[in-house]
Amino acid sequence: MTKMPPTRSNITLINAQLSDGGITSIRIAGPRIDALGAAPHPGDLIVDVEGDRVLPGLINAHDHLQLNTLTRPEFEKHYRHVREWISDVNAYRRSDPKFQAAIAVARDERLLIGGVKNLLSGVTTVAHHDPFYPFLSSLFFPTSVVRDYGWSHSLYVDGEEEVRSSYHATPADWPWIIHAGEGLDDEAGREFERLDALGCLGSNTLLVHGIALNHAQRLRLNLAAAGLIWCPSSNLHLFGRTADVAELVGLGRIALGTDSRLSGAGDLLDELRLANDLGVVDECSLESLVTTASARLLRLHDRGMLRAGARADILLLPARTRLAEASRADVRVVLIDGIARYGDRHRALPITPDAQWTDIWVDGRAKVLDSRIAGLVADAGIHESGLELTRFTGRAA
Ligand SMILES: [Zn+2]
Repeated sequence: MTKMPPTRSNITLINAQLSDGGITSIRIAGPRIDALGAAPHPGDLIVDVEGDRVLPGLINAHDHLQLNTLTRPEFEKHYRHVREWISDVNAYRRSDPKFQAAIAVARDERLLIGGVKNLLSGVTTVAHHDPFYPFLSSLFFPTSVVRDYGWSHSLYVDGEEEVRSSYHATPADWPWIIHAGEGLDDEAGREFERLDALGCLGSNTLLVHGIALNHAQRLRLNLAAAGLIWCPSSNLHLFGRTADVAELVGLGRIALGTDSRLSGAGDLLDELRLANDLGVVDECSLESLVTTASARLLRLHDRGMLRAGARADILLLPARTRLAEASRADVRVVLIDGIARYGDRHRALPITPDAQWTDIWVDGRAKVLDSRIAGLVADAGIHESGLELTRFTGRAA
C-alpha cells in the first residue's frame, strides 16, 4: 500500500470549547490557524467537534527522545547530586544485559518511540536535550522537535570552558538549555553562581531542574528574564524533592518537561497530573506551563496559543476535561500543521479524510494513528508500552 502524505484542505472546526468554557470555531488554512470565531468559508471542510475541549498542541520542554525505551532503574535510594545517579546508571549499564540490549537498539528506533510517547499524550512540539539527530526532522517523525537551540549537558559533565563557549556560540534569540541545580548538596547549590560568573545567565538561558536554587537565586533568575524547566517526576524519583516553583510560575518563568523515562515517569499528561497533585499550580497556570509559557521561553513564537497566524497544532479533549485529569486514552485528536496524526477514529478521519490510518489500541482504547508513523512503529524492534497496532485501514470512505 502506498503511503502518500495527506493533502491539506481548509477546515473549520465548529463547536469547540475553549479553556474559559466559551464555544468557538477555528478555521485552519493549510498549516496555520486562519481565524477563531469566524464563519467557515465556502468550500471549507466543516467538522463539528461537538463541544470537545480545544487546546494548543502541548509543548514538552525537556526530553531525551532516545532514552524513553530504557527501563527506569529502581535503585531505591535518593541522591544528593545527580552525578551519583549517573554513576549508578553507568554501573548498571555495565552489569545488566537487558539494559545493554535496550541501549543497543538503533538510535532512530529509540527516537521514534520517544516521539510516539509524546504524540500519544497530545504533545506537538518537544525540546530534545541532546544533538539534533537527522531523523528528528523527518516528515515521518511523530512530533515537531525544537530545531533552533543551544545546549550544554551540565557543568559537571562538560566543564566550565565548554559550557561558556556553548552559551556564547548560541544566537541570543535561541534558547540555551542546561541541566543545573539538579541535586541537594553544595555542588548543586553553587551551579547557579558558577553559571552567572561565566556570563551564562541571560534572557535566553533555560535551566533544567533547579532543585537547589534558593529564593534569592530564583529572584535573580527572574530578573535575568531566564527560565526554569521543571521536571517534577524525575526530581522526586531521584531526590525525593523538586524545585520550589510557585513564585516563578506566577512570573511566567516555568515550563514543564517530562525528562526521559530513564528518570521521569510516563508522559507529559502524567507530569501535569503530578504537578497538579503537588498543589503549587492552579489549573490555568498548569495549562500555561505546557503552552504559552513554554512557547515563550523556548522562543517558539508561532505556537502555544490558539490565534490567527499560529501553527495549526491542536489538541482536542472530551468536553470539560481538566488537563490535570486527562490521560492519553482520552485524547480525541492531535493535529500538527493542520493535519490529524492520532486520535479517535470518528474525530480524526473527518478532519484529515485523505490520510491513511491504522487502527491501534492505546491503553485498551481504540484509536487511529497516521499509517506513516504506524508503519515505522511496526517495523521497529522495540515498542511503546500500552500501544498495540492492529491493521492498516486505508483511506476513509
Ligand atoms: Zn534531562
